[in-house]
Order: sequence, then C-alpha cells, then structure tokens
Amino acid sequence: MNNIAEHIQKIKASLPANVTLVAVSKFHPAEALMEAYEAGQRIFGESRAQELVAKEKVLPKDIEWHFIGTLQTNKVKDIAPFIHTIHSIDSLKLLQEVNKQAEKHGRIIRVLLEIHVAEEETKHGLTPDECRTLLDSDLSNLRHVQIGGLMGMATFTDDMERVRSEFRRLSSLFHELKEHYFANQPEFKDLSMGMSHDYHIAIEEGSTMVRIGTDIFGERQY
Ligand SMILES: *Cc1c(COP(=O)(O)O)cnc(C)c1O
Repeated sequence: MNNIAEHIQKIKASLPANVTLVAVSKFHPAEALMEAYEAGQRIFGESRAQELVAKEKVLPKDIEWHFIGTLQTNKVKDIAPFIHTIHSIDSLKLLQEVNKQAEKHGRIIRVLLEIHVAEEETKHGLTPDECRTLLDSDLSNLRHVQIGGLMGMATFTDDMERVRSEFRRLSSLFHELKEHYFANQPEFKDLSMGMSHDYHIAIEEGSTMVRIGTDIFGERQY
C-alpha cells in the first residue's frame, strides 16, 4: 500500500463518525490527489483559485471541492461553476458575490463564515462581533448561498493549551450563533477546525470537519 492511501485510511479510522475529512491538497500534483481518490477520498480542499480550476478540469467529476484559502472577490466567478463549499467567507461583500455567481449557474453554494480566534495578526476572518453584525444584516435575498457553519484556525504554536482555548472559543461562538440565528436550520451544522498538528484537540473541542494536508500528502514544496 502506498503512503497516501495508508495515511488516509489511518486518519479516517481515527476520526469519530460525525467528523468529515477534507484532504487539503494545495501545492500537490493531480497525481497525488488521484492516489487519495483511489483510496476512497472524495472531499478535497484547495486554497488558490487558479490551481483549483486546473485540477478540477483533469480530475474525476464526483470530487467535492472545498475552497479553504483567502478568496478575492474577482476570483469567485472562476470557481462558482463547481465549488461545493467555501470555508473562508470573511465579509458581507464576499458573501454577496458568491451568491451572485452561484445564481448565474443556478447553484446553491455552501459557505462557512471564517472567524478570527488566533492571536496572530496574520490570520484572516471575522471577529465574533463582526460575525454577529453580518448575521444581523438582511440576508433574505441571498438565496444561492447556504450558511453551513463556521471555520477557524488556531495560533500556530506548540502551546497546546492555547490552541485548545482558541478552539473552545470558536466552538462556543458556533453554539451561540446556532441558537440565536439558525435554531430552525439544521444545515447550520459544521464547525471546520483542526489541521495536521492540532486536529485531535479540535475534535475534542467539537470540530465536525478537519482540514488535513501534511499528514496525508507530506510536506508541501512551495
Ligand atoms: C494548508 C491549510 C490546511 C492544512 O494544513 P496542514 O498543516 O498541512 O494539515 C488547513 N486549513 C487551511 C485553511 C490551510 O490553508
């Protein structure tokens, strides 16, 4: 058995039944994704629009593509024909653009709101207050997006207690928003948190979706 297939099977066997694995394949060639595909993986996460579009063209059509990186508004149109879930919605403007492009293709695109919980300035996302403000605005005309939950990244550090407390804050925001804004919407159900070095903690803190790259495909060559 080759490495990628073996890694996927190991990780999958360790995940609770309610946790979805997004195989983060950015910077890896289509052949590597194909190995994962042949091992049964169907959900892949990419972070650059151009790279994603190129891979989508050559890989099997039953792959569920997730966009996990920073998304510029002018790139939304490129991925709108096929993208399943966008994890990185960090403004109303971006949400409106996704809605507009999805409508052109008669699609509904699932989106997650990205929340800034890490201490690093460089991490993207809405603050909890910005997120509440976004949800307080009138979204009723956005019929081509479905808000499916939240996404966040913890600080990149060896201090696992800090990582845990950031995941815990994100999880508590998720439950607050679910109760307040999405009480009758079962589709608001995903908490996308956890990467190769911290997904075990993320799962303990309530993650339903882990985004794992390095532990599956190895180190990325930038
Ligand atoms: C690259 C990336 C990942 C995967 O990181 P690994 O450490 O390789 O598992 C997860 N989430 C986001 C948003 C990423 O950009």
